[in-house]
Amino acid sequence: MSAKVRAGDSKDNGEIIKNYHKRAFEYISVALKIDEDDKGVKEEAVQWYQKGIAELQRGIAIEVTGQGEHCDRSKRLQTKMINNLTMAKDRLALLGQPSDDVENVVLDCITVLSKVVPRAAGRGQNGRPAASKEPQKRDMKNFKNVDSKLASFILNEIVDGGSSVSFEDIAGQELAKQALQEIVILPALRPELFTGLRSPARGLLLFGPPGNGKTMLAKAVAMESHATFFNISASSLTSKWVGEGEKLVRALFAVARELQPAIIFIDEIDSLLCERREGEHDASRRLKTEFLIQFDGVQSDGAERVLVMGATNRPQELDEAVLRFLDMIFLTNVMCLQTSQTRFKLLKNLLGKHGHPLNQKELAHLAKMTGGYSGSDLTSLAKDAMRNIRCKDFEDSLKRIKPSVSPTTLDLYVRWNTDYGDTTA
Ligand code: ATP
Ligand code: MG
Repeated sequence: MSAKVRAGDSKDNGEIIKNYHKRAFEYISVALKIDEDDKGVKEEAVQWYQKGIAELQRGIAIEVTGQGEHCDRSKRLQTKMINNLTMAKDRLALLGQPSDDVENVVLDCITVLSKVVPRAAGRGQNGRPAASKEPQKRDMKNFKNVDSKLASFILNEIVDGGSSVSFEDIAGQELAKQALQEIVILPALRPELFTGLRSPARGLLLFGPPGNGKTMLAKAVAMESHATFFNISASSLTSKWVGEGEKLVRALFAVARELQPAIIFIDEIDSLLCERREGEHDASRRLKTEFLIQFDGVQSDGAERVLVMGATNRPQELDEAVLRFLDMIFLTNVMCLQTSQTRFKLLKNLLGKHGHPLNQKELAHLAKMTGGYSGSDLTSLAKDAMRNIRCKDFEDSLKRIKPSVSPTTLDLYVRWNTDYGDTTA
């Protein structure tokens, strides 16, 4: 199947593409819901995926020519639709459905888009984005009001010079990936499209049980977005920087402003932004206040492109006042590794790197047996069994390595998400 060309006013075409995208999104959301539910009827999921794929194909096949804001927006949407198409295709393949047509249309569309979507610059080998800016080469004097020692610490220790995780390395997490693509990566790559009313988000939170890929997602964002990526763990901020933490936070935001577009990633953000407690250390209260002041000071009207991204596996401990500051909160994925398809994909990736002798059927069997295992549980399991790998080895390892998060704990995240999470993402 080849991409069709339809002539027409770019504004009208934009509306048509938008409608296709909207319908596809609705259909694929229904499909994902059924697909991710272990009790869901998979044939129904297949039908919804196919309906969604058909809409995506129609939308992507519309040729967008010309220049200007409308065209840029349509091209951006088509790029997103191609990603959605690939995701839906992967899901269908996991459900045992042929997807040749989809494969072809993806290739066609990528060819079409590669001619029209600007900004391929900055990509490294294999089409992967090149590492972030090289901080060492920056002149410290450029940073206004920042102590040079702090500035050099930030540039050398906190700026992530080139992470090697990509979205493809992360199994599942489709909704989180899609949301990050829309909220973080596109605004960083195409800031000119996100001004005025479409100004980008200032802060977001990845939350979910331990070992399901929050930190991995943040690293992948660093790699895909080309933004200067500041990576700091809040526990190191509170423990190593006692008394100096406020200064560091101030300097961090100042340097981020200078090196924008920038993403400040704060892992284990709960230890920085936990609810006030009796007997709370003065220093930690001051640190928290300084962080909120700095965060509030980040302009979101497009003039300053600094995004704060936090990750936590203890969202219940966050201060509610903080949640009000965050534009968007979403659950990275309580449920995702709960589906056997995702566990299948993760195990296949893990074992594939080592030329494993397990066949598809055995992998599917293992995926079925590992309900409740997180990404890091599965990684430990594979390492444990890897010494002499056969399905039986996995079964032995299953007796030793148990899921690290209980269903009751998972339920807490679901409830927290109902109260605070952005359920539209
Ligand atoms: P924590 O809440 O404890 O910080 P986390 O959600 O940040 O956990 P990660 O550090 O991203 O978890 O994942 C731990 C390890 O588990 C990763 O290095 C990777 O090996 C594996 N892993 C976890 N989730 C996934 C996933 N979705 N796909 C592939 N590997 C995963
Ligand atoms: Mg983590």
